Amino acid sequence: MKQSMRIGLIVGVVVISMAVIGCASLPLFGPKAPTKAVAVLRPLQGSTIQGTVSFIQEGSGVRVIADLSGLTPGKHGIHIHEFGDCTAADGSSLGGHYNPGNTMHAGPEDKERHVGDLGNIEADKSGKAKYNRLDQQISLNGRNSIIGRSIVIKEKADDYKTQPGGAAGMRIACGVIGISSLESD
Ligand code: ZN
Repeated sequence: MKQSMRIGLIVGVVVISMAVIGCASLPLFGPKAPTKAVAVLRPLQGSTIQGTVSFIQEGSGVRVIADLSGLTPGKHGIHIHEFGDCTAADGSSLGGHYNPGNTMHAGPEDKERHVGDLGNIEADKSGKAKYNRLDQQISLNGRNSIIGRSIVIKEKADDYKTQPGGAAGMRIACGVIGISSLESD
């Protein structure tokens, strides 16, 4: 009788200890929303495009910073597409422009546009291109989250008018948008 009580006491202490340790390892307020995302571009359709595109939470918007090389000189459409699937060599696995609001294609500064309509990126004579813009429609969490989708570079300039893709031609590079390991603050 005495021994079974002692075992019972030991079991009780172990169970309580495990419960305390278990609680301590749980996050207090749930998973933290991402504040920075990144996409590494890979070429499609025989292009030589390389580079990265970063997405950084800045107030109520998201700053988009792209640093690319290997483009033909001039303007190229830059869009977020529905699927983060770069497997098809022609980019057909990427779906259309990311458009959760089911609206018309337009330019990046238009109020009514696809969430994925980031406009154009312009390459210089050496094929290098930079883009740095604060966007108010894309988001790193919630309804318009771009995490797990893709950033896609186009053969030609986006005219901000032609439906559904701005007459920007072939998809010549893509990258999957993932949560960055670097904190942005
Ligand atoms: Zn669009």
